Amino acid sequence: MPELPEVETIRRALAPRVEGRLLERLEILDPRFCAPAAPAEVEAAVCGLRVTRLARRGKYLVWELTGDTRPAEANPAEPLFLVLHLRMTGNLLLAAPGDPFAPPHLRVRFDLDSGDRVLFTDPRRFGTGVLLRGADARDAYFAARLGVEPLEPDFTPEALRALAAGRRAPVKAFLLSQERIAGVGNIYADEALFRARIHPLRPVGSLRRPQLAALRDAVVESLEAGIDARGATIDDFRHPDGARGSFQYRFLVHRRAGEPCPECAREIVKLRVAQRGTYVCERCQPRPRLRRAPARGGATGA
Ligand SMILES: [Zn+2]
Repeated sequence: MPELPEVETIRRALAPRVEGRLLERLEILDPRFCAPAAPAEVEAAVCGLRVTRLARRGKYLVWELTGDTRPAEANPAEPLFLVLHLRMTGNLLLAAPGDPFAPPHLRVRFDLDSGDRVLFTDPRRFGTGVLLRGADARDAYFAARLGVEPLEPDFTPEALRALAAGRRAPVKAFLLSQERIAGVGNIYADEALFRARIHPLRPVGSLRRPQLAALRDAVVESLEAGIDARGATIDDFRHPDGARGSFQYRFLVHRRAGEPCPECAREIVKLRVAQRGTYVCERCQPRPRLRRAPARGGATGA
């Protein structure tokens, strides 16, 4: 599943080709993409608008569209936002003018006035597109779903401490919850916890101040390393230009069960935490001690 670095990689590759361009036509081939809105309704709303910005929030890609070319009465008063989530297997590919490229599992096509086509493919069809009218609607949409943006300046050690305070959830589950920190998924949670030397089962509220500071830095470093490698190619993820990311060759622990830890050479093990396969070096990331259940009715022996 694409996480923040994969979505950011797509955004960076596409932005120079789409920003400033007219969206001449949007074709939604799979009504499930925009349900419950009707494809024709979404297509008509955005057709002929200018792409002023391709943004990202968490794992969402945001097409910002404004009117300046259609008849004045047909232009929207406020910018429209087409908010894409790739989910499990969604991907955006770019086809240059004249390129007959027709990938399988094509769900949505964006035709730009440059002749470029942006193709949304999605074998498993969980990807979604939501049309929001105006910045307030966009902000409300994200406020209901997403927490702090980890590569923005407001993701400070203090902010992480405030989010973690009093919570008993395992730190891995905490990192995966998008409403606390946006964009971190299974890969980057494992990598960040290893870098911070924190066991994924540690209750997040039990982490001490230096550990939370280390975790904050580790989340940022892991995401940035992923972006530097242009994302991880896992399952079906590809760049818009068809190239593959390389971060999977740089995983420290993720998907490396049975291999030696890069720090101490002990064997990396796979656990199940928060319903997800989780990779850990249990020497570098010591397992939390189990708190013994309170004894009932007196002595329990040593
Ligand atoms: Zn180790």
